[in-house]
Amino acid sequence: MKLDHIGVAVEDLNQSLSAYESLGLQCAHREHVERDGVEVAFIPFEGGRFELLKPDRETSPVRDFLNKRGPGMHHIALGVDNLQAQLEQLKERGVRLIDQAPRPGAEHSLVAFIHPSATGGVLVELVERSQEVGSRG
Ligand code: ZN
Repeated sequence: MKLDHIGVAVEDLNQSLSAYESLGLQCAHREHVERDGVEVAFIPFEGGRFELLKPDRETSPVRDFLNKRGPGMHHIALGVDNLQAQLEQLKERGVRLIDQAPRPGAEHSLVAFIHPSATGGVLVELVERSQEVGSRG
């Protein structure tokens, strides 16, 4: 596993992007992820990326997060080669999962979330990137 990205919940995507631009970082990609009800923006840095998440409907889990905790770090994403096999291994070890099977994420990736109770309170996302998309920013 290696660091893929750090997810950050935000209320205003453009305002957050200019804040990161002030740090000298640039947005490389924006996308609407219908299934999760979020608008995402990826900001690459050496060795990883920030993923800014702005909910665009009231039923988005990121909306719930913002209502409860306010803007801030939402999850850490680790890249894996074979997500299906990784999930089977975790299930065998009794690790509590949110997603029992890989599901589509941003940039044609496959993703699955591990329950925060399994990681001392940190929401961890596993990401398998498709070969043709390849570039990790
Ligand atoms: Zn993510």
